[in-house]
Amino acid sequence: MKEGWEAVIGMEIHAQLATETKIFCACAANFGDEPNANTCPVCLGLPGALPVLNEKVVELGAKAALSLGLNVNETSIFARKNYFYPDLPKGYQISQFDEPICGEGFLDILVEGKGAKRIGIQRIHMEEDAGKSMHLASTTLVNLNRAGVLCRYRGEKVSVKLCVANRSKPMLLQLLFPTPQRPRRPVCPI
Ligand SMILES: [Zn+2]
Repeated sequence: MKEGWEAVIGMEIHAQLATETKIFCACAANFGDEPNANTCPVCLGLPGALPVLNEKVVELGAKAALSLGLNVNETSIFARKNYFYPDLPKGYQISQFDEPICGEGFLDILVEGKGAKRIGIQRIHMEEDAGKSMHLASTTLVNLNRAGVLCRYRGEKVSVKLCVANRSKPMLLQLLFPTPQRPRRPVCPI
């Protein structure tokens, strides 16, 4: 590294929470099921469908936030992130923008030979996933089983010497994938 320069790296980490169902409907959040087996009018974005928030997502998000020293906001608002993509038939993702579930916090890690280092965390917000495009030789298919849940973590001003990122990842995974519990299934209005 050139003297006087410091590389600053930010990370955005997407993690699927350990819920049995998707974030806004009662469809299973299983991985590897038959394509489009786990879909309903809500996650397909059909006209008149209404999302219902899965309480387990909020509970796990809040637990992760408290584990990382983040403030859990009393008011948290979802917003539509509008964009077009072939695996997003409704034309928007339900996400969080200016009022996410959690504010600033940190993660302390150990750096070999240097002791503890504190990594700033900007926020955690909840967001549904889009579908998955499968590109074949002559056509593209879409699997909409993945309209699951994502949590996003944004680090700030992380030194490039953070090759220890590989160490912090399992810690985050432990936080986000606790001992499986049977979540309450949300009531689908459709
Ligand atoms: Zn669904």
